[in-house]
Amino acid sequence: MTTTEIGHYINGQPFAGARTKTQDVFNPATGAMTGQVDLASVEDVDAAVAAAKAAFPAWSNVPPIRRARLMNKFLQLLNERKEELAHAITAEHGKVFTDACGEVERGIDIVEFACGIPQLLKGDFTDQVSTGIDNWTLRQPLGVVAGVTPFNFPVMVPMWMFPVAIAAGNTFVLKPSPTDPTASLLYAELMKEAGFPDGVFNVVQGDKVAVDALLEHEDVKAISFVGSTPIANYIYEVGARHGKRVQALGGAKNHMLVMPDADLDKAVDALMGAAYGSAGERCMAISVATLVGDVADKIVPMIKERLKDLKVKNGVELDAEMGPIVTKAAQERILGYIDKGVEEGADLIVDGRGFSVEGHEEGFWVGGTLFDNVTPDMTIYKEEIFGPVLSCVRVESFAEGVQLINDHEYGNGVSIFTRDGNAAREFGRQIQVGMVGVNVPIPVPMAWHGFGGWKKSLFGDTHAYGEEGVRFYTKQKSIMQRWPESISKGAEFTMPVAK
Ligand code: NAD
Repeated sequence: MTTTEIGHYINGQPFAGARTKTQDVFNPATGAMTGQVDLASVEDVDAAVAAAKAAFPAWSNVPPIRRARLMNKFLQLLNERKEELAHAITAEHGKVFTDACGEVERGIDIVEFACGIPQLLKGDFTDQVSTGIDNWTLRQPLGVVAGVTPFNFPVMVPMWMFPVAIAAGNTFVLKPSPTDPTASLLYAELMKEAGFPDGVFNVVQGDKVAVDALLEHEDVKAISFVGSTPIANYIYEVGARHGKRVQALGGAKNHMLVMPDADLDKAVDALMGAAYGSAGERCMAISVATLVGDVADKIVPMIKERLKDLKVKNGVELDAEMGPIVTKAAQERILGYIDKGVEEGADLIVDGRGFSVEGHEEGFWVGGTLFDNVTPDMTIYKEEIFGPVLSCVRVESFAEGVQLINDHEYGNGVSIFTRDGNAAREFGRQIQVGMVGVNVPIPVPMAWHGFGGWKKSLFGDTHAYGEEGVRFYTKQKSIMQRWPESISKGAEFTMPVAK
C-alpha cells in the first residue's frame, strides 16, 4: 500500500516542511494507513504568517468588486470539482459520499455569499451632522487572520471562515485537522487557479504546536476556531491574552423535543437522519430525544425497528447511510460511553458494540446505538459522545422538556417536533440555544444568516459567516469631515455639539 506525504501550502505553492514530526492518516472504512501529514513547526507557521503579512497591503487595496470576481472564479472551480473534494472527505473522514457532497455544497454556499462582499462592506453616511460636517463609517480588514478547524467538516467549516475573511480584504492562514488534511490542499490549489495572489490563502497542517504558534504570533490579528469545548475555551482565553479577536465554537449536546401531537413517522425519520447521519459526528447531530408523555412508548420501538435496516457501509458505496467512525481512538471513546451508559443504568435498546462490516473488518465501526430511560445525571446525557448513539429522555410536559434543555451546559442546536403553533412559538422564545428548528432536525443556518451556539458551544460574541462573519473580520472606522470653507474661526474649548 502506498501512502502519501501530506504537507502545507504557503505563498501560492506546496510547502513540504521539515517533516520532523508527522501524523498517520487513515481510511476509517478499511483501517488502512493512507498517508502521513507533516505537523508544522513554529518556523513553518512563521513562514505562512510572513507570506500572509506580505500579501496583505496589496490585497486589502484591491477594490471589493475585483476581490468578489476572484471569489466568483473560485466558486465556479469548486462547482466543477466538488466530487473530487467529496471523495477526499470520504477517504479520510469516512462519512458517506452523498453526505460529503452535501458538506461541499454547504461550503460552496458561503463562497457564494462572500461574492456579495461589495454590498456587505458598504458603509453608512450622514450628511450635515453639524453645519458643514459629514460623518460616515467604513469597515476595514484586520490583516492576517487564522482559522483552526475540526475533523468533522474538512471542507465546510474552513469555508465558514476563509471566503468571508479574504473577500473582506484579509489574508488567511488555515490550520485544518490533521485527521483529514488532504481536502485543504485541493481548495488551496483552486484558490491559486482562481487567481488569488500568492500568500492570500495559506495552509499549515499541524497540532497544538502550530495552534499555539498562531495564538502567540503578534502578526495574527484574529482567530476563528471550531472544535471541542475545552479547546475552544483555551483558544478564547489564550487568544484574548495575546490581544486577538477570537470566535471559538465548541461542542454540543443537541436535543429534539417531540410533542405528543407531532407526526411521529416524520419525527422518527428526522431522528434517524439527525442521530445516525455522519455517524453522529456532527456538531448539529441530535444526540438526545426528549420525549413528552407517551411519545417514548410509541417511538422507541419504531427507532429500534428502523435501526435493523440502517445501511452501515464503506462510505464510497452510494447506498450507504452511515459510514465508520473517524479514528480508532474515537471508536474506543464511543464504545466506552456505551459501556458507561449500561453501567449507570440506562436501558440499552440497540447495542452498536461489536459491530463490523464484512470485508472491512479492520475499519473503525460502531453500529447505530439506542438508549432509553436516560436521566440527566448520567454521563451519556451530560457529555458529548460524538458518535451514533441516541439517548431517549422521558419528560412529562413541554415545560419540563424546555427546562431540561435549558439546564444543559451546551446550547448549539435544538429542535421541536409539533403541530401546535403556539408550542413552537413559545419554544423558540424560551429555549436557551443558539440555533432552533421547528420540525427541522438539524437547523444549520444558511450562508447569509450566520452559525453559532450559546453557552459552552461558543466563546466570543460573533457567529461564524453571514453578516456577523463580515463584522468579525473587519473593524469599523468612523470618519468626520469638513472643508476649510465651513471651519469657524477661533479655538473651541467646550465639547463640540451640533450647530
Ligand atoms: P478538537 O477540539 O479535538 O480539534 C479541533 C482543532 O483544534 C483541530 O485543528 C486540532 O488540531 C486542534 N487542537 C486539538 N487539541 C488542541 C490543543 N490541545 N491545543 C490547541 N489546538 C488543539 O475537535 P475535533 O475532534 O477535531 O472535532 C470535533 C469537535 O468539534 C466536537 O466537539 C464538535 O462538537 C465540535 N464541532 C463544533 C462545531 C460548532 O460549530 N460548534 C462544528 C463542528 C465541530
